[in-house]
Amino acid sequence: MLHTSDPLFSRFAGSALGAFIGDALGMAVEGQPHELILETYGGMLDDMWPGRFPAGHYTDDTEMAISLLEVLAATGDLDPALLARHFTVNFHPERGYGGRIYGIMSQLAAGEAWDRVGTDSFGNGAAMRVAPAGFYFYDDLDRAAQEAARQASITHRHPEALAGAVIQAGAVAMATRAGLDDAPLFVESFLRTLAGLARDHDELSATRLLAVANIQPGETLDVIAQIRGLFQCDVKAIEAVPPAIAAFLMTTNFREAVLMAVNLGGDADTIGAMAGAIAGAYYGFEALPAAWLDRLENGDLGRDYVINLCRQAAQRKAAAG
Ligand SMILES: [Mg+2]
Repeated sequence: MLHTSDPLFSRFAGSALGAFIGDALGMAVEGQPHELILETYGGMLDDMWPGRFPAGHYTDDTEMAISLLEVLAATGDLDPALLARHFTVNFHPERGYGGRIYGIMSQLAAGEAWDRVGTDSFGNGAAMRVAPAGFYFYDDLDRAAQEAARQASITHRHPEALAGAVIQAGAVAMATRAGLDDAPLFVESFLRTLAGLARDHDELSATRLLAVANIQPGETLDVIAQIRGLFQCDVKAIEAVPPAIAAFLMTTNFREAVLMAVNLGGDADTIGAMAGAIAGAYYGFEALPAAWLDRLENGDLGRDYVINLCRQAAQRKAAAG
């Protein structure tokens, strides 16, 4: 009953489960430098390993993305007050959140308004969760960017955090559309369009993103070295979003994209989730390795729940015409 022949479902579930897989792969090595990953695994990490959680479990990235997906599937909109309520209901502090989120969640739980709790954080926490806004509004890039920035502002108000969320949502939106049309993506125009969206919030984020165009194709470890030469691959949006975009653009299938992303090291779960969301949207649900899908945690808010939300969201989108 997966309806994998439905093209919208394939892109929505490809992106949402692609992010889930990237998060779970990166979870094992979150915060570790690239060199330590190679040493620990005798080469690149290429499968799901346990880390702070058992193998196949997700972290804050997927937990927050689930809230966006729930709201979109239920309403076809991304009302920030409703989204903020979903964030608090779904919040499990042990999932590995950034430090500032705890204060935000307690203020929201105490009834404070969604537009009064955000901090000036320039972290990647608004970009890591934004994929559902990208694939749901794939047919309206400006809307995707607006929704990305608005959902970001619940928690993050720094221009670099907003720009990062807009870049990531725009990338997912364009990957979804190209995937649906079975059309190729051209690196330079893809980056230029995203930089244009970012510029509405932060000029530096746009300029830094465009550096991805200088990366030369090559062996995986060589491309990883080039990306790491350009970006810190850490918890800052401006240092984490472009590497995820690069991992997608410099590879030719889902598996290569997420493995390149998580092996960069640093904020591996988040960069993996973002690369997985873009690659999954482009290549589709059928391109996700079955062995990885099988290993994803599948409790109340696990794999099948996310698949079901994607089915509902795709049906709502198709009905809206
Ligand atoms: Mg995380």
